[in-house]
Amino acid sequence: MKLTYLGTGAAEGMPATFCACPVCLRSLREGGKSLRMRSCALLGDDVLIDMGPDIHTQKLRYGLRLDQLKAVVYTHSHEDHEDMYALHVRGTPSCSVRPGVPADQDVLDLYGSLWAFKRFEQAVSEGPKIREERFRFHQVEAWQAFHVGPYTFHALRANHRPIVVEDCLIYAITDGISAILYANDTGELGPEVDEYLRKSGLRFSLVSMDCARGLLPGDGHMGWAECLRLRDRLYTIGAADSDTRFILNHLSHMNDMTHSEWEAFAAPYGIEVAYDGLIIEC
Ligand SMILES: [Zn+2]
Ligand SMILES: [Zn+2]
Ligand SMILES: [Zn+2]
Repeated sequence: MKLTYLGTGAAEGMPATFCACPVCLRSLREGGKSLRMRSCALLGDDVLIDMGPDIHTQKLRYGLRLDQLKAVVYTHSHEDHEDMYALHVRGTPSCSVRPGVPADQDVLDLYGSLWAFKRFEQAVSEGPKIREERFRFHQVEAWQAFHVGPYTFHALRANHRPIVVEDCLIYAITDGISAILYANDTGELGPEVDEYLRKSGLRFSLVSMDCARGLLPGDGHMGWAECLRLRDRLYTIGAADSDTRFILNHLSHMNDMTHSEWEAFAAPYGIEVAYDGLIIEC
């Protein structure tokens, strides 16, 4: 399984667009891996996990053939993960021309919770020329497994917003050979996640962890302490072992570290730090 991190920053980007806090300025000076677009990852060549406001720049930077995209799996409906304008562009025939593809096959499959679906419906209703038939939205729920191409996605309940507001999801993903846990946006996970993973028998090659809070205590995002606890929990239930790679993701200016500072901090713990363009092959 191949996962490409297209964006590893939090909602405001890193450095944040309009910010002059010390770490944003240091990140701007450091450049390179310290420059993070909004959260997005590509599975193989044609499945996206989230499609945020930087998707056009990500296409340009990585030379992506997004016309060949088969599916987008949304974690939740926050704007940095589910960008409505990207849906407008994909759904408007004059903006997205795919020669040789019959109209009935010119369909992008979307997967997400009821809340992601509501946001999709809003995008469709507000796009003056958008064709709803260019999408097929599959509503999914926590504790449900579903198939996207060669992958099985296990939807797990995140701890990001109160469930009465939105049931946010993280995903355990497997192609039958290897498995990854893609865990943002979320604070510390509930014990029912351990229970589900224990029963699934999945053993992860990669665990990608929300660390937006940095060294601050976790809330609707994890921080360093919660990431270490998640690693311990996965070891305890047998979902990870010494071969598992643990990688911090969804980084923000709430912590006070540039990429190189994060790497120096995390390396002694055997934990890696994601950056835009990082490719993981499991
Ligand atoms: Zn986010
Ligand atoms: Zn800042
Ligand atoms: Zn969010």
